Amino acid sequence: MTEEELLEKGYRKYYGEEVDVYFNTHICEHSGNCVRGNGEIFNLDRKPWILPDNASKEEVMRVIDTCPSGALQYVQKEGLAK
Ligand code: SF4
Repeated sequence: MTEEELLEKGYRKYYGEEVDVYFNTHICEHSGNCVRGNGEIFNLDRKPWILPDNASKEEVMRVIDTCPSGALQYVQKEGLAK
């Protein structure tokens, strides 16, 4: 999905340097895969509870790929110098 589609569907954006994370609380099934997967990125005791820059882009994408509901999504930044 594009950022526009995600925001239209009610996802909230969490800015990261290399990858932005999007979360939709209405879709979340509370499986806990995200917080168990990486507590540095996902921590419900903190605001904001998602900090995409607390791990590598690859790790952010790896954990989000384990989300069973689709409540978590990511969009990689384009045009970054490699
Ligand atoms: S992994 Fe997805 S469904 Fe599970 S708690 Fe996290 S956001 Fe919700």
